[in-house]
Amino acid sequence: MSLSSLLSRFNEPETLKMAKLGRELKAQGIDITDLSLGEPDFDTPVHIKEAAKKAIDENFSHYTPVSGYLDLRQAVCEKLLRDNGVRYTPEQIVVSTGAKQSIANLVLAVVDAGDEVVVPTPYWVTYSEIVKVAGGTVKLVTTTCEAEFKITPAQLEEALTDKTKLFMFSSPCNPSGTVYTKDELAALAKVFERHPEVYIMSDEIYEHIVFEGRHESIAQFESIKDRVIIINGLSKGFAMTGWRLGYMAAPLPIAKAADKLQGQFTSATCSITQRAAITALTGDLRPTEEMVGEFKKRRKKVLELVREIPGLICSEPAGAFYVFPDVHTYFGKKTPEGNLIADADELCMYLLNDAHVSTVSGKAFGEPNCIRISFANSVENLEKGFLKIKKALEGLQ
Ligand code: PMP
Repeated sequence: MSLSSLLSRFNEPETLKMAKLGRELKAQGIDITDLSLGEPDFDTPVHIKEAAKKAIDENFSHYTPVSGYLDLRQAVCEKLLRDNGVRYTPEQIVVSTGAKQSIANLVLAVVDAGDEVVVPTPYWVTYSEIVKVAGGTVKLVTTTCEAEFKITPAQLEEALTDKTKLFMFSSPCNPSGTVYTKDELAALAKVFERHPEVYIMSDEIYEHIVFEGRHESIAQFESIKDRVIIINGLSKGFAMTGWRLGYMAAPLPIAKAADKLQGQFTSATCSITQRAAITALTGDLRPTEEMVGEFKKRRKKVLELVREIPGLICSEPAGAFYVFPDVHTYFGKKTPEGNLIADADELCMYLLNDAHVSTVSGKAFGEPNCIRISFANSVENLEKGFLKIKKALEGLQ
């Protein structure tokens, strides 16, 4: 069958692929411990669910404006001022079917064929692939575990050229858990001041899930704010991955472009989700704080479990719900069946097929020495999963 050339330009998300493989093995009756998950294992808070039920009863069942209801966009502006100290008007907000669509809207709005997009590693899998869809070129900047996986101002200065259209990063970072401090962001902002043509995507979807310090937005620096596009959504902070709501806060021309693109692709996201989102964004944050408290306990546990396995080098994640250990000391070893483990992809497949634990290879995130292990799972499952990992790694020779 003849399919479009576009399809050969990008890959399917490695994270979803691992989840799919895990599900297939589970369906065969195999006891898979899934530590590949990129979503909270909690229920959506009750007050948000109630708001959705009310919206159904009140017949919010029609098409909404493409960018979302006006009162929802006002609620987003209130939230941005309250939590992030940044001022936006509702015309600058575009609500989408998940932050993933917000990112796609942004990239398709600004990146032309041949444009360069600078992305520090490790990065969330979708960034590079969406840039490829747009015909852009991804320029990776390698950060190190010793530098807490943070790009330095010097590295940024070196990476930006007159071809650079966009810089994309997340803080807290998926997969490394890195959280940039205000001073670190200020130093990066200074570099961007010298490159006035570059847009900056600040993916803040994990903003509530922070264990050390606090979340800061790079949009707070007025000298560059008119080039920053904030991406955020409800999936992580409110345990609402399936509800599909993300948003961008952007300079007006980009917001208008995103509205135009979205008008042809999907129109607006679900009306019921939008009504519930107003409650999520303006309502009680205690359920979110309780969830984060739970993640904090698990993080402590997971760091203990990681330290029990020889050869794993792991920084402590300041945010999000993943550990991202460097596993390269196991490369070049052989499985009990005699198969060579050449890289993180093969190590993850070995862990899945032999130890029945699902993780994600760091290769997909641009960091081939690491694997991502999610702690969005019960302490019991984490202990079980790590025991299996430990045994499997001990079995390598
Ligand atoms: N950005 C990052 C860094 C993510 O980890 C995710 C979800 N895994 C998203 C964006 C997309 O979130 P959603 O589309 O569910 O809102």
